[in-house]
Amino acid sequence: MSPQPPRAEMPALAPAMQQEVARLAASPEVRSAFNWLRMQEPQLTHWQMEMARIPAPPFGESARANWLAERFREVGLDDVRIDDVGNVFGTHPGFGRRYVALSAHIDTVFPANTPLNIRQQGSRIYGPGVSDNGAGVVAMLGIAALLRNVRIRHAAPFVFIGNVGEEGEGDLRGMRHIFSTPRWKDSIAYTLVLDGAGADTIVAEALGSRRFEVIVRGPGGHSWSDFGAPNPIVILAKAIDTFTATPVPSAPKTTFNIGVIRGGTSVNSIPESASMKVDIRSTSMAEMERLEQSLRLALNRVVEDETMTAEMRSAAQKRPAGVGCEVVVIGSRPAGELLAGAKILQVVRAVDAQLGNAAQVQRASTDANIPLSLGLEAVAIGGGGAGGGAHTLQEWFDSSGRELGLKRILLSMLALAGVGE
Ligand SMILES: [Zn+2]
Repeated sequence: MSPQPPRAEMPALAPAMQQEVARLAASPEVRSAFNWLRMQEPQLTHWQMEMARIPAPPFGESARANWLAERFREVGLDDVRIDDVGNVFGTHPGFGRRYVALSAHIDTVFPANTPLNIRQQGSRIYGPGVSDNGAGVVAMLGIAALLRNVRIRHAAPFVFIGNVGEEGEGDLRGMRHIFSTPRWKDSIAYTLVLDGAGADTIVAEALGSRRFEVIVRGPGGHSWSDFGAPNPIVILAKAIDTFTATPVPSAPKTTFNIGVIRGGTSVNSIPESASMKVDIRSTSMAEMERLEQSLRLALNRVVEDETMTAEMRSAAQKRPAGVGCEVVVIGSRPAGELLAGAKILQVVRAVDAQLGNAAQVQRASTDANIPLSLGLEAVAIGGGGAGGGAHTLQEWFDSSGRELGLKRILLSMLALAGVGE
Protein backbone atom coordinates (compact mmCIF):
# COMPACT_ATOMS: atom_id res chain seq x y z
CA MET A 1 0.00 0.00 0.00
CA SER A 2 1.15 3.56 -0.62
CA PRO A 3 -0.90 5.66 1.75
CA GLN A 4 -1.84 9.28 1.39
CA PRO A 5 -3.85 11.51 3.69
CA PRO A 6 -7.50 11.83 2.65
CA ARG A 7 -9.23 14.90 1.39
CA ALA A 8 -12.07 15.05 3.88
CA GLU A 9 -12.13 16.86 7.20
CA MET A 10 -12.76 14.48 10.06
CA PRO A 11 -16.01 14.88 11.96
CA ALA A 12 -15.73 15.45 15.72
CA LEU A 13 -15.50 12.41 17.98
CA ALA A 14 -18.88 11.02 19.02
CA PRO A 15 -19.21 11.53 22.83
CA ALA A 16 -21.41 8.46 23.34
CA MET A 17 -18.85 6.26 21.58
CA GLN A 18 -16.06 7.82 23.62
CA GLN A 19 -17.90 6.97 26.85
CA GLU A 20 -18.58 3.44 25.69
CA VAL A 21 -14.89 2.85 24.88
CA ALA A 22 -13.78 4.40 28.20
CA ARG A 23 -16.18 2.10 30.07
CA LEU A 24 -14.87 -0.93 28.17
CA ALA A 25 -11.24 -0.03 28.82
CA ALA A 26 -11.91 0.34 32.56
CA SER A 27 -13.72 -2.99 32.92
CA PRO A 28 -11.88 -5.66 34.97
CA GLU A 29 -12.05 -8.22 32.16
CA VAL A 30 -10.48 -5.89 29.60
CA ARG A 31 -7.79 -4.95 32.13
CA SER A 32 -6.93 -8.58 32.65
CA ALA A 33 -6.95 -9.04 28.86
CA PHE A 34 -4.39 -6.24 28.56
CA ASN A 35 -2.26 -7.91 31.22
CA TRP A 36 -2.48 -11.24 29.46
CA LEU A 37 -1.49 -9.71 26.10
CA ARG A 38 1.53 -8.02 27.71
CA MET A 39 2.98 -11.43 28.59
CA GLN A 40 2.58 -12.99 25.15
CA GLU A 41 5.47 -11.28 23.35
CA PRO A 42 7.80 -14.34 23.29
CA GLN A 43 5.02 -16.49 21.81
CA LEU A 44 4.12 -13.83 19.25
CA THR A 45 7.73 -13.42 18.10
CA HIS A 46 8.06 -17.19 17.88
CA TRP A 47 4.97 -17.46 15.64
CA GLN A 48 6.12 -14.53 13.54
CA MET A 49 9.52 -16.08 12.77
CA GLU A 50 8.07 -19.54 12.21
CA MET A 51 5.54 -18.21 9.73
CA ALA A 52 8.02 -16.00 7.85
CA ARG A 53 10.10 -19.13 7.14
CA ILE A 54 7.21 -20.67 5.17
CA PRO A 55 7.17 -19.36 1.57
CA ALA A 56 3.92 -17.68 0.52
CA PRO A 57 4.43 -16.22 -2.97
CA PRO A 58 1.35 -14.95 -4.84
CA PHE A 59 -0.73 -18.00 -5.87
CA GLY A 60 1.47 -20.25 -3.68
CA GLU A 61 0.16 -19.66 -0.18
CA SER A 62 -1.08 -23.17 0.68
CA ALA A 63 1.77 -24.25 3.00
CA ARG A 64 1.34 -21.09 5.03
CA ALA A 65 -2.46 -21.47 4.99
CA ASN A 66 -2.07 -24.97 6.48
CA TRP A 67 0.26 -23.60 9.16
CA LEU A 68 -2.26 -20.90 10.06
CA ALA A 69 -5.17 -23.36 10.17
CA GLU A 70 -3.16 -25.44 12.69
CA ARG A 71 -2.53 -22.35 14.82
CA PHE A 72 -6.24 -21.41 14.66
CA ARG A 73 -7.11 -24.88 16.00
CA GLU A 74 -4.37 -24.71 18.62
CA VAL A 75 -5.66 -21.40 20.04
CA GLY A 76 -9.18 -22.81 20.19
CA LEU A 77 -11.07 -21.17 17.34
CA ASP A 78 -14.18 -23.01 16.10
CA ASP A 79 -15.07 -24.24 12.66
CA VAL A 80 -11.52 -23.85 11.29
CA ARG A 81 -11.44 -24.34 7.53
CA ILE A 82 -9.67 -23.40 4.32
CA ASP A 83 -11.85 -22.33 1.38
CA ASP A 84 -11.51 -23.01 -2.37
CA VAL A 85 -8.96 -20.26 -3.01
CA GLY A 86 -6.91 -20.87 0.14
CA ASN A 87 -8.35 -18.39 2.66
CA VAL A 88 -8.22 -19.64 6.27
CA PHE A 89 -11.18 -19.11 8.62
CA GLY A 90 -11.85 -19.63 12.31
CA THR A 91 -14.72 -18.32 14.41
CA HIS A 92 -15.38 -17.37 18.02
CA PRO A 93 -19.01 -17.53 19.13
CA GLY A 94 -21.27 -14.66 20.11
CA PHE A 95 -24.91 -13.74 19.79
CA GLY A 96 -26.62 -12.93 16.52
CA ARG A 97 -25.81 -13.62 12.92
CA ARG A 98 -23.57 -10.69 11.98
CA TYR A 99 -19.84 -11.09 12.51
CA VAL A 100 -17.05 -8.69 13.30
CA ALA A 101 -14.22 -9.87 11.01
CA LEU A 102 -10.52 -9.55 11.80
CA SER A 103 -8.41 -10.30 8.73
CA ALA A 104 -4.75 -10.35 7.73
CA HIS A 105 -3.28 -11.33 4.38
CA ILE A 106 -0.89 -14.28 4.42
CA ASP A 107 0.72 -13.81 0.99
CA THR A 108 4.02 -12.04 0.34
CA VAL A 109 5.48 -10.34 -2.73
CA PHE A 110 8.48 -12.69 -2.72
CA PRO A 111 8.83 -15.35 -5.46
CA ALA A 112 8.97 -19.01 -4.44
CA ASN A 113 12.77 -19.34 -4.54
CA THR A 114 13.51 -16.31 -2.31
CA PRO A 115 15.88 -17.29 0.55
CA LEU A 116 13.90 -16.82 3.77
CA ASN A 117 16.71 -16.03 6.15
CA ILE A 118 14.77 -14.96 9.23
CA ARG A 119 16.83 -13.86 12.24
CA GLN A 120 16.38 -12.12 15.57
CA GLN A 121 18.45 -9.48 17.33
CA GLY A 122 17.03 -8.10 20.57
CA SER A 123 13.50 -6.86 19.97
CA ARG A 124 14.04 -6.90 16.20
CA ILE A 125 13.49 -9.61 13.66
CA TYR A 126 14.75 -9.42 10.11
CA GLY A 127 13.78 -11.08 6.84
CA PRO A 128 11.26 -11.04 3.98
CA GLY A 129 7.66 -10.75 5.15
CA VAL A 130 8.34 -10.40 8.91
CA SER A 131 6.33 -7.19 9.04
CA ASP A 132 4.16 -7.32 5.88
CA ASN A 133 2.29 -9.28 6.88
CA GLY A 134 3.90 -11.15 9.78
CA ALA A 135 2.88 -8.29 12.07
CA GLY A 136 -0.76 -8.46 10.96
CA VAL A 137 -1.15 -12.25 11.11
CA VAL A 138 0.50 -12.52 14.52
CA ALA A 139 -1.62 -9.74 16.01
CA MET A 140 -4.69 -11.63 14.76
CA LEU A 141 -3.41 -14.86 16.36
CA GLY A 142 -2.70 -13.03 19.63
CA ILE A 143 -6.28 -11.76 19.83
CA ALA A 144 -7.68 -15.20 18.94
CA ALA A 145 -5.55 -16.83 21.67
CA LEU A 146 -6.64 -14.22 24.19
CA LEU A 147 -10.33 -15.06 23.75
CA ARG A 148 -9.70 -18.61 24.93
CA ASN A 149 -7.56 -17.57 27.90
CA VAL A 150 -9.45 -14.58 29.27
CA ARG A 151 -13.23 -14.48 29.53
CA ILE A 152 -14.48 -11.34 27.79
CA ARG A 153 -18.12 -10.62 27.13
CA HIS A 154 -19.10 -9.46 23.67
CA ALA A 155 -22.32 -9.68 21.68
CA ALA A 156 -21.51 -10.21 17.98
CA PRO A 157 -19.47 -13.29 17.02
CA PHE A 158 -15.96 -12.92 15.59
CA VAL A 159 -14.51 -14.43 12.43
CA PHE A 160 -10.75 -14.55 11.99
CA ILE A 161 -9.50 -14.66 8.41
CA GLY A 162 -6.02 -15.28 6.99
CA ASN A 163 -6.60 -14.37 3.35
CA VAL A 164 -4.60 -14.97 0.19
CA GLY A 165 -3.89 -12.72 -2.76
CA GLU A 166 -3.46 -9.20 -1.36
CA GLU A 167 -0.14 -8.33 -2.98
CA GLY A 168 0.39 -7.15 -6.57
CA GLU A 169 -0.77 -9.69 -9.10
CA GLY A 170 -2.93 -11.38 -6.45
CA ASP A 171 -5.19 -8.38 -7.10
CA LEU A 172 -7.18 -8.90 -3.86
CA ARG A 173 -8.47 -12.27 -5.06
CA GLY A 174 -8.77 -13.66 -1.51
CA MET A 175 -11.03 -10.87 -0.30
CA ARG A 176 -12.92 -10.82 -3.61
CA HIS A 177 -13.76 -14.49 -3.11
CA ILE A 178 -14.87 -14.04 0.51
CA PHE A 179 -17.15 -11.11 -0.30
CA SER A 180 -18.70 -12.88 -3.28
CA THR A 181 -19.66 -15.85 -1.08
CA PRO A 182 -23.20 -15.34 0.30
CA ARG A 183 -22.20 -17.00 3.60
CA TRP A 184 -19.77 -14.14 4.36
CA LYS A 185 -20.94 -11.27 2.18
CA ASP A 186 -24.23 -11.11 4.07
CA SER A 187 -22.95 -11.94 7.52
CA ILE A 188 -19.86 -9.75 8.02
CA ALA A 189 -20.98 -6.43 9.50
CA TYR A 190 -17.56 -4.89 10.09
CA THR A 191 -14.09 -5.77 8.79
CA LEU A 192 -10.88 -4.79 10.57
CA VAL A 193 -8.00 -5.49 8.19
CA LEU A 194 -4.55 -5.86 9.77
CA ASP A 195 -1.79 -4.99 7.34
CA GLY A 196 1.81 -4.49 8.41
CA ALA A 197 3.17 -2.99 11.62
CA GLY A 198 2.34 0.22 13.47
CA ALA A 199 -0.62 1.83 15.20
CA ASP A 200 -0.46 5.28 13.64
CA THR A 201 -2.79 4.98 10.63
CA ILE A 202 -6.41 4.22 9.80
CA VAL A 203 -7.03 3.47 6.12
CA ALA A 204 -10.65 4.49 5.59
CA GLU A 205 -10.68 5.24 1.88
CA ALA A 206 -9.99 2.60 -0.75
CA LEU A 207 -7.76 3.81 -3.51
CA GLY A 208 -8.91 1.97 -6.63
CA SER A 209 -6.83 1.20 -9.68
CA ARG A 210 -7.34 -0.08 -13.22
CA ARG A 211 -4.29 -1.21 -15.16
CA PHE A 212 -4.07 -1.95 -18.84
CA GLU A 213 -1.63 -3.22 -21.38
CA VAL A 214 -2.31 -1.76 -24.81
CA ILE A 215 -0.88 -3.57 -27.83
CA VAL A 216 -1.01 -2.03 -31.32
CA ARG A 217 -0.13 -4.20 -34.33
CA GLY A 218 0.46 -3.26 -37.94
CA PRO A 219 1.84 -4.80 -41.14
CA GLY A 220 5.39 -3.56 -40.49
CA GLY A 221 7.81 -2.98 -43.32
CA HIS A 222 10.92 -1.25 -44.58
CA SER A 223 11.37 2.35 -43.52
CA TRP A 224 12.13 3.45 -47.12
CA SER A 225 10.31 1.12 -49.46
CA ASP A 226 7.17 0.70 -47.30
CA PHE A 227 6.97 4.31 -46.22
CA GLY A 228 3.38 5.23 -45.46
CA ALA A 229 2.43 1.90 -43.87
CA PRO A 230 0.78 2.48 -40.47
CA ASN A 231 3.30 2.71 -37.65
CA PRO A 232 2.21 1.26 -34.23
CA ILE A 233 4.67 3.50 -32.35
CA VAL A 234 3.23 6.60 -33.98
CA ILE A 235 -0.29 5.37 -33.25
CA LEU A 236 0.58 4.90 -29.58
CA ALA A 237 2.25 8.31 -29.43
CA LYS A 238 -0.80 10.05 -30.89
CA ALA A 239 -3.16 8.14 -28.60
CA ILE A 240 -1.03 9.03 -25.56
CA ASP A 241 -1.09 12.67 -26.58
CA THR A 242 -4.90 12.66 -26.78
CA PHE A 243 -5.47 10.54 -23.66
CA THR A 244 -3.14 12.52 -21.40
CA ALA A 245 -5.01 15.71 -22.25
CA THR A 246 -8.06 14.30 -20.40
CA PRO A 247 -8.82 16.60 -17.45
CA VAL A 248 -8.83 14.91 -14.01
CA PRO A 249 -10.33 16.27 -10.80
CA SER A 250 -8.19 16.96 -7.73
CA ALA A 251 -11.12 15.82 -5.56
CA PRO A 252 -11.72 12.93 -5.71
CA LYS A 253 -8.04 12.69 -6.52
CA THR A 254 -7.62 10.85 -9.80
CA THR A 255 -4.38 10.06 -11.62
CA PHE A 256 -3.05 8.29 -14.69
CA ASN A 257 0.39 7.11 -15.73
CA ILE A 258 2.00 5.59 -18.81
CA GLY A 259 4.57 3.45 -17.01
CA VAL A 260 6.08 1.21 -19.71
CA ILE A 261 6.38 1.61 -23.45
CA ARG A 262 7.89 -0.92 -25.84
CA GLY A 263 8.05 -1.54 -29.55
CA GLY A 264 10.10 -1.77 -32.70
CA THR A 265 13.17 -3.74 -33.69
CA SER A 266 15.50 -1.46 -35.64
CA VAL A 267 15.85 2.11 -36.77
CA ASN A 268 15.08 1.34 -40.42
CA SER A 269 12.05 -0.91 -39.86
CA ILE A 270 8.43 0.14 -39.51
CA PRO A 271 7.52 -1.75 -36.31
CA GLU A 272 5.01 -4.59 -36.44
CA SER A 273 3.91 -3.88 -32.89
CA ALA A 274 4.18 -1.48 -29.98
CA SER A 275 2.76 -1.68 -26.47
CA MET A 276 2.32 0.37 -23.34
CA LYS A 277 1.17 -0.10 -19.76
CA VAL A 278 -1.27 2.37 -18.29
CA ASP A 279 -2.20 2.85 -14.63
CA ILE A 280 -5.38 4.71 -13.61
CA ARG A 281 -6.14 5.46 -9.95
CA SER A 282 -8.92 7.13 -8.01
CA THR A 283 -11.07 6.78 -4.92
CA SER A 284 -14.05 7.17 -7.26
CA MET A 285 -15.24 4.29 -9.45
CA ALA A 286 -16.97 6.77 -11.78
CA GLU A 287 -13.72 8.67 -12.37
CA MET A 288 -11.83 5.46 -13.13
CA GLU A 289 -14.51 4.43 -15.62
CA ARG A 290 -14.47 7.86 -17.25
CA LEU A 291 -10.68 7.70 -17.72
CA GLU A 292 -10.85 4.16 -19.08
CA GLN A 293 -13.43 5.34 -21.64
CA SER A 294 -11.20 8.24 -22.55
CA LEU A 295 -8.24 5.89 -23.12
CA ARG A 296 -10.28 3.53 -25.30
CA LEU A 297 -11.75 6.42 -27.25
CA ALA A 298 -8.33 7.97 -27.92
CA LEU A 299 -7.02 4.62 -29.18
CA ASN A 300 -10.04 3.93 -31.39
CA ARG A 301 -9.90 7.35 -32.95
CA VAL A 302 -6.18 7.22 -33.79
CA VAL A 303 -6.40 3.65 -35.08
CA GLU A 304 -9.32 4.62 -37.32
CA ASP A 305 -7.54 7.70 -38.66
CA GLU A 306 -4.33 5.83 -39.34
CA THR A 307 -6.16 2.92 -40.95
CA MET A 308 -8.05 5.24 -43.23
CA THR A 309 -4.92 7.11 -44.29
CA ALA A 310 -3.02 3.88 -44.85
CA GLU A 311 -5.90 2.33 -46.80
CA MET A 312 -5.93 5.24 -49.17
CA ARG A 313 -2.20 4.79 -49.72
CA SER A 314 -2.26 0.98 -49.94
CA ALA A 315 -5.13 1.05 -52.44
CA ALA A 316 -2.69 2.86 -54.69
CA GLN A 317 0.23 0.57 -53.70
CA LYS A 318 -1.74 -2.73 -53.40
CA ARG A 319 -0.39 -3.52 -49.88
CA PRO A 320 -2.34 -4.68 -46.79
CA ALA A 321 -2.86 -1.87 -44.29
CA GLY A 322 -4.40 -3.74 -41.33
CA VAL A 323 -3.96 -2.20 -37.89
CA GLY A 324 -5.15 -3.92 -34.74
CA CYS A 325 -5.39 -2.64 -31.21
CA GLU A 326 -5.90 -4.76 -28.12
CA VAL A 327 -6.56 -3.48 -24.60
CA VAL A 328 -5.86 -6.06 -21.89
CA VAL A 329 -6.88 -5.42 -18.26
CA ILE A 330 -3.87 -6.41 -16.14
CA GLY A 331 -5.14 -5.20 -12.77
CA SER A 332 -8.35 -3.97 -11.22
CA ARG A 333 -8.92 -2.87 -7.65
CA PRO A 334 -12.26 -1.28 -6.82
CA ALA A 335 -12.46 2.13 -5.15
CA GLY A 336 -14.68 3.06 -2.24
CA GLU A 337 -14.89 5.01 0.96
CA LEU A 338 -16.65 4.96 4.27
CA LEU A 339 -19.79 7.03 4.56
CA ALA A 340 -19.44 10.04 6.84
CA GLY A 341 -20.38 8.88 10.33
CA ALA A 342 -19.50 5.22 9.72
CA LYS A 343 -19.44 3.39 13.04
CA ILE A 344 -16.14 1.61 12.41
CA LEU A 345 -14.27 4.91 11.98
CA GLN A 346 -15.93 6.39 15.07
CA VAL A 347 -14.90 3.31 17.02
CA VAL A 348 -11.23 3.28 16.00
CA ARG A 349 -10.91 7.02 16.56
CA ALA A 350 -12.54 6.77 19.99
CA VAL A 351 -10.16 3.90 20.84
CA ASP A 352 -7.19 6.00 19.74
CA ALA A 353 -8.36 8.88 21.90
CA GLN A 354 -8.78 6.48 24.83
CA LEU A 355 -5.27 5.05 24.39
CA GLY A 356 -3.70 8.46 23.78
CA ASN A 357 -2.66 7.23 20.34
CA ALA A 358 -2.22 9.72 17.50
CA ALA A 359 -3.26 8.15 14.19
CA GLN A 360 -3.83 9.62 10.77
CA VAL A 361 -6.78 8.72 8.56
CA GLN A 362 -5.49 7.74 5.12
CA ARG A 363 -6.43 6.38 1.74
CA ALA A 364 -4.60 3.41 0.30
CA SER A 365 -5.12 0.19 -1.60
CA THR A 366 -5.60 -2.70 0.84
CA ASP A 367 -7.83 -5.73 1.40
CA ALA A 368 -10.39 -3.23 2.77
CA ASN A 369 -11.01 -2.07 -0.82
CA ILE A 370 -13.33 -5.02 -1.42
CA PRO A 371 -15.80 -4.53 1.47
CA LEU A 372 -15.58 -0.74 1.06
CA SER A 373 -16.46 -1.01 -2.64
CA LEU A 374 -19.56 -3.00 -1.63
CA GLY A 375 -20.67 -0.29 0.76
CA LEU A 376 -19.66 -2.31 3.83
CA GLU A 377 -17.81 -0.86 6.81
CA ALA A 378 -14.09 -1.68 6.82
CA VAL A 379 -10.78 -0.08 7.76
CA ALA A 380 -7.18 -1.24 7.56
CA ILE A 381 -4.88 -0.69 10.54
CA GLY A 382 -1.48 -2.00 11.65
CA GLY A 383 -0.69 -4.94 13.91
CA GLY A 384 1.44 -2.81 16.29
CA GLY A 385 5.19 -2.57 16.78
CA ALA A 386 7.31 -0.94 14.11
CA GLY A 387 8.42 -2.17 10.73
CA GLY A 388 10.27 -1.13 7.63
CA GLY A 389 11.75 -2.25 4.34
CA ALA A 390 8.49 -3.86 3.23
CA HIS A 391 8.77 -5.76 -0.08
CA THR A 392 12.60 -5.96 0.25
CA LEU A 393 14.94 -8.63 1.58
CA GLN A 394 15.99 -6.12 4.28
CA GLU A 395 12.53 -6.06 5.81
CA TRP A 396 12.48 -5.74 9.63
CA PHE A 397 10.04 -5.68 12.52
CA ASP A 398 10.54 -4.30 16.02
CA SER A 399 8.17 -5.55 18.70
CA SER A 400 8.63 -2.52 21.00
CA GLY A 401 5.20 -0.98 21.32
CA ARG A 402 3.32 -4.00 19.91
CA GLU A 403 1.19 -3.96 23.04
CA LEU A 404 -0.42 -0.65 22.03
CA GLY A 405 -1.38 -2.10 18.64
CA LEU A 406 -2.94 -5.16 20.29
CA LYS A 407 -4.94 -3.09 22.80
CA ARG A 408 -6.17 -0.95 19.94
CA ILE A 409 -7.36 -3.97 17.95
CA LEU A 410 -9.04 -5.62 20.95
CA LEU A 411 -10.88 -2.50 22.09
CA SER A 412 -12.04 -1.80 18.53
CA MET A 413 -13.38 -5.34 18.12
CA LEU A 414 -15.21 -5.23 21.45
CA ALA A 415 -16.73 -1.80 20.75
CA LEU A 416 -17.88 -3.01 17.31
CA ALA A 417 -19.31 -6.25 18.71
CA GLY A 418 -21.14 -4.60 21.60
CA VAL A 419 -21.34 -6.10 25.09
CA GLY A 420 -23.11 -9.40 25.64
CA GLU A 421 -24.99 -10.59 28.71
ZN1 LIG B 1 0.53 -6.05 3.30
